[in-house]
Amino acid sequence: MSLLELQNNHSSLAPAPLVDLAGVRMVYPKGDNTELVVLDNVSLTIREGEIVGLLGRSGSGKSTLLRVLSGLVPATSGSVRWRDAPVSGPCEGMSMVFQSFALFPWLTVLENVEIGLEALGVPAAERRRRAIEAIDLIGLDGFESAYPKELSGGMRQRVGFARALVVHPRLMLMDEPFSALDVLTAETLRTDLIDLWIEGRLPIKSILMVTHNIEEAVLMCDRILIFSSNPGRVAAEIKIELPHPRDRDDLAFRQLVDDIYARMTQRTPAEKAEKRAVDGLPGTGINMVLPHISTNLMSGLMEELATPAYGGKADLPELAATLQMEVDELFPIAETLQLLRFAEMAEGDVQLTDAGRQFVDSDIDTRKQQFAEHLATYVPLAAMIRRVLDERPSHRAPFTRFSEELEDHMSVADAEATLRAAISWGRYAELFGYDEQAGEFNLENPA
Ligand code: ADP
Ligand code: MG
Repeated sequence: MSLLELQNNHSSLAPAPLVDLAGVRMVYPKGDNTELVVLDNVSLTIREGEIVGLLGRSGSGKSTLLRVLSGLVPATSGSVRWRDAPVSGPCEGMSMVFQSFALFPWLTVLENVEIGLEALGVPAAERRRRAIEAIDLIGLDGFESAYPKELSGGMRQRVGFARALVVHPRLMLMDEPFSALDVLTAETLRTDLIDLWIEGRLPIKSILMVTHNIEEAVLMCDRILIFSSNPGRVAAEIKIELPHPRDRDDLAFRQLVDDIYARMTQRTPAEKAEKRAVDGLPGTGINMVLPHISTNLMSGLMEELATPAYGGKADLPELAATLQMEVDELFPIAETLQLLRFAEMAEGDVQLTDAGRQFVDSDIDTRKQQFAEHLATYVPLAAMIRRVLDERPSHRAPFTRFSEELEDHMSVADAEATLRAAISWGRYAELFGYDEQAGEFNLENPA
């Protein structure tokens, strides 16, 4: 067994903790003296010799956690340790692969890879030697003098990997590294990376990979931390003991994917309490961030669920596979249907409610009417917009009337997206209209 293999095979050695987070909290101040809690009580340990996946929905705080963990931003409170010492600035011995590749367009492949070593003060000849080594390892041999724009997305991300590997980091952090790539390219790159890892050829000890793709996590990781949102917390940990290469069609693989779906559809006690509060008291919950899901997607999913193939109830992983959607695309639609009481999610299934079945069986006008009723009942923001318009003699109100109120409870971007969702749902339901040019809500031709 070679030295590198030994480094990656720790069955006989006691794995040392590389990263240790305990009780980490991250809070961003908002304009109005309130706070956005992004991470709450996050604890995790990454040891040598493992690939750990951090699986969570978009906006759950995964990138923030990577920034805290690598010392790029300080946590609000809690303990962040790297190799047994407290982290107080950017850590040496970690490097990051970004979803967006983050290459310098004016530098060649070789120069883009070398740049990581410059900061470390490595002499020029040594930089070149190591960069070429990393480029060869990751399958970019012959592209040293190409510019990023001359490369495909997959090749660009290989440059991203080479740049991270060239510093021989102990821990390689990857922030959704495959999600900007097409399906086939992403799979090739995943497989190449895992092969290199298994063969002990990567000059690293561990990988922490952030992803919103359940199958990707099961395919690659030794351990998956399920990260839940609002605020971000590690809600569960799952060990993946399947040998590599892993087969997505294998029964045990499918079972793990199913289990993870089930855990991700579980409501936390806080969410259950919130649901009861909203059920009991329609009219609260203006601070809810709404996903910008089109009514076409909603009715499309309801229609799909109503087909004989599903009979009103579908297993989420199966449905995702049929529709070729990722959890990050499918979940927000199903959740919106749940919010509007057209469907329910539980134990990894999504099921139409009676209202959902009725919607599917109705003609377009009845659908709109029913949608308007549900919108006004279960989406307090939509009800409030309608009420304000009814009360004003002009029956008009500017966008800012509502965006400013929402910004007291959420980020500017979330407020914008939430209002955009309300606008498109309100228009479909003919509950209110919106004049883009004037930037005004109105009650004229709400359709
Ligand atoms: P993810 O990577 O899981 O998609 P992020 O860590 O990027 O999530 O963001 C989590 C939440 O924190 C989001 O609501 C985002 O708007 C908010 N956020 C991220 N960075 C900042 C910042 N610098 N200031 C204020 N809010 C932020
Ligand atoms: Mg992110």
